[in-house]
Amino acid sequence: MVESLNRVEISRSALCHNLAVCRELAGAGCGIVAMVKADAYGHGMVECARILAGEGVRAFGVAEAVEGVRLRRQGIGGEILVLAGTLPETIGAMIEHDLTPVVTDAAMLPDLSRRARQAGREIGVHLKVDAGMGRLGCLAGEMEEVVRRIAELPAIGLRGVMAHFPMADDPASSSSHQVRQRFEAMLRRVRHLLPPDLRLHIANSGGLFYGAGTGLDYVRPGIALYGCPPDGGLHAGRGDQPALRPVMRFVSRVIQVRQVPAGTGLGYGHIFTTRRPTTVALLPAGYEDGYLRVLSNRASVLIRGHRVPVIGRVSMNLTMVDVTGLEQVQPGEEAVLLGRQGEDEITADELAAWMDTISYEVLCLLGNLNRRVYVA
Ligand SMILES: *Cc1c(COP(=O)(O)O)cnc(C)c1O
Repeated sequence: MVESLNRVEISRSALCHNLAVCRELAGAGCGIVAMVKADAYGHGMVECARILAGEGVRAFGVAEAVEGVRLRRQGIGGEILVLAGTLPETIGAMIEHDLTPVVTDAAMLPDLSRRARQAGREIGVHLKVDAGMGRLGCLAGEMEEVVRRIAELPAIGLRGVMAHFPMADDPASSSSHQVRQRFEAMLRRVRHLLPPDLRLHIANSGGLFYGAGTGLDYVRPGIALYGCPPDGGLHAGRGDQPALRPVMRFVSRVIQVRQVPAGTGLGYGHIFTTRRPTTVALLPAGYEDGYLRVLSNRASVLIRGHRVPVIGRVSMNLTMVDVTGLEQVQPGEEAVLLGRQGEDEITADELAAWMDTISYEVLCLLGNLNRRVYVA
């Protein structure tokens, strides 16, 4: 069997290490909802859910019901929160596969209750409130009505109430503390209507790392599980942040090495012209693989543990790097576009800066467009 020369390597041990870091920060008695949406940020949803379940994780977060169904079909147990996909047409799947819809209003509740009852079941829901995110969620003025409706309906149980932080990536911002206070104020107003065993949660990775979201029943880390600091690496090396281990590497191979004289225009548009005799190595990776065109003349890759610059246009399936001065690079050698090789490392945050984006997008792109290999 022949496979792509490019591969994304996913480290099981790094994922487990990062889970342990999150648990330590969350403290005893606080559950982890592992966010495995977007195919676990490109790391493979089913495989990651299995690894995390093996470490005792009992709750998972996905965006849409279809992802929850896939997890169930692969034997994943526990609670599966469906965060962004509750239209009436998903009700059947929610009930059949014991998924937990995150609801934001009362619109779907009567149908949900009726259909759960028909199936002889009760369905648990979490209510998402907008405590300052300004995106998805129930507004303060609507909350009492929704909570009342849930309490009235026979086959629906309110299991949790959640909110989300808009600026948890910035440890210096007071936003998260304000959102936390608004969340608690919203809860106080409907306290008399809430069941006793309710699970409250608000923290994503930033809310967990920088404290504003701890002390509740659950935390919902995503990016931290995959090994990227929630602040985008801006405070790297400050020492007060626990050490996460990157889970993903993106590895390509050298397919050709060429010597070209000074003054040679390289690739589409000749946006790079050599100024000296240059050794060019070609890699069979390009924007098709998520190694975006914006990386042209901008990124670096690792070959033999050395950083070498990307030169010329990144094209659909080819990228050129300048390996002048490296001893006799050979076709077949590995080139690391993301991750560690030898003593050096290209982090997702570094690649993200070259791509004018954030680590999340880098992981989703590379992870979901390439062949994944799981390593110890
Ligand atoms: C994706 C998501 C998270 C995880 O966010 P990270 O910043 O990756 O930790 C948490 N909560 C909600 C509602 C999300 O959609």
